[in-house]
Amino acid sequence: MRLIFHGPPGVGKGTQAGRISLEENINHISSGDLLRVAVDAKTEIGLKAKKYIENGLLVPDELIVNIVADKINSAECEKGFILDGFPRNLSQARVLDSTLEKAGKKIDRVFSFTASEEVIITRISGRRICKSCGAHYHEIFSSPLKENTCDKCGSELFQRKDDYPETIKVRLKVYKEQTETLIDYYNKKGILVEINCNGDKKEIQENILAGLQSMSEGKRDME
Ligand SMILES: [Zn+2]
Repeated sequence: MRLIFHGPPGVGKGTQAGRISLEENINHISSGDLLRVAVDAKTEIGLKAKKYIENGLLVPDELIVNIVADKINSAECEKGFILDGFPRNLSQARVLDSTLEKAGKKIDRVFSFTASEEVIITRISGRRICKSCGAHYHEIFSSPLKENTCDKCGSELFQRKDDYPETIKVRLKVYKEQTETLIDYYNKKGILVEINCNGDKKEIQENILAGLQSMSEGKRDME
């Protein structure tokens, strides 16, 4: 089972990917995490990527693709994987397909998570992080016991610049521009499943399950 979880920042796809990867016993691959690991481990690719990150630039496709390809070709992904946050654009998607093709594999389903701008802004702009221990909070969904104070260490909380409503709007616009062609690409292949995330968790989980179910039905049809 090889899946892609695709969606804008703040839509909650990471949480869903984590859950499904446990249930289905497949690897959850977050390209952001892979990149951080490579940077921390000071691998050749990691050192190259670090230069871009430090300068606030997007890491080039080629570097990210190499990191992801290494991972999906490794033994731990033999049973399958969920790609979270990758591919981000059409050129990454094409390289991913040709990498898999060489190994006689393909992507089975692409789950496209969507939510209204209002819902996303509420989710992201409520995020708060502890200045000293890095613990995460949310003003609405997981607020600290004492306002603006970390439960664990008592330090002050802050909001990342990336999480200001004005910045979120820019991030969403960039996201939309980059990914419209990507969605179209997977839609034409007939493997796209749209998951509306405006509703509650239960509804979202049911929709994902239905998408997975349609996948095994498709396989049975072929047998
Ligand atoms: Zn703290």
